[in-house]
Amino acid sequence: MAARSTLGPNCLPPETFCSSQVNSDVVGLRVNHDKWRGETVLQSTFSSKLLNLGTVSSSNTPPAPKQVHARSLASLCGFLRQQRPLLASLNARPPQDLKRLPYVNLNSLRTNTLVHAWLHVAHTQLGTAHVQALDPAHPKAQEFVDQRSIQRETSIELDLDTLLSQKYSGAVELRVQVTSFHFQDFLTSQRAPRAVLDNSTPLDGIVAVLNDDITYTGCGLCATELDTDANGIYVPCYPCLPHTAVRRYYRPGMLTVRGQGSSQVRVQVPPVLLQKILEAPPDKLHRSSGEASRHTPGSKVKHIQVAAEKIHSLLSLPRKVMVITIQSHFLCDENSVPVAQDFTLLDLQFSS
Ligand SMILES: [Zn+2]
Repeated sequence: MAARSTLGPNCLPPETFCSSQVNSDVVGLRVNHDKWRGETVLQSTFSSKLLNLGTVSSSNTPPAPKQVHARSLASLCGFLRQQRPLLASLNARPPQDLKRLPYVNLNSLRTNTLVHAWLHVAHTQLGTAHVQALDPAHPKAQEFVDQRSIQRETSIELDLDTLLSQKYSGAVELRVQVTSFHFQDFLTSQRAPRAVLDNSTPLDGIVAVLNDDITYTGCGLCATELDTDANGIYVPCYPCLPHTAVRRYYRPGMLTVRGQGSSQVRVQVPPVLLQKILEAPPDKLHRSSGEASRHTPGSKVKHIQVAAEKIHSLLSLPRKVMVITIQSHFLCDENSVPVAQDFTLLDLQFSS
């Protein structure tokens, strides 16, 4: 669907929304004037629909549906016959029969095919922009807490070896030890690879890593990294408009964890969860946390030191057993051999 097309002085050319056989029109669009780019664009909205207007031929104008003026449709068909005669001369495509669509496995899915899919939702995410604090006693808050505990209960407890041998995809609770941590690189980076922190890294070394470029400014809604324009203004995140709030995030992290056996896996730590684990806001790393320093009497600890000590305690010996909840995802070929596997951290707790 043409969700975002630049407008000419009057209107979109009619063929913008035409496939070869069926003239279609997009409804529920909104005009957006982008002052920064000096352009006027049409944006789809949640009520946008692609409306099928029927098939136009050299002699036949389809009947107008009730949302469309017959005169507009006739003028669209006239335009097509005159300016795009090839479109009007094509044979009508046989209608698709939904009953004859095949069922396929996700891993054999190809682009641009219409198939039946039988899926279960493995992960959902709630946006957090424009959040208002809710009284914990409010029934809605209670309902949310109940749902969260049900979600946690739906993760199954496995050991790492079993997870890997069963190639289980879904939410899994694991008892593990953390052996290393590093920040992930962003794809366009030309820089040297990130330092990997482990139990041999002194606290100063962890602080040095946190002093590096480990945060970014992203969309307040979806956390996508945002570029700045020539004036140093952050460009909006187009999929999330009209939300334009920006927020500072940690770059995603990567934990290497080991189960009771010898197997190790790498688990991605998303930005917001990393902030929760480090207990330090990424935009205030060099400000005082308000906590009194244990080492230098009379001085206050900065957030960067709080974060460094969190990482240090995750990695220090003797290793502690952590309970982590991860979202595991295996993509297997037809012989059940994994072609891709990834693990994303959902929660981390120190085991008591
Ligand atoms: Zn966004």
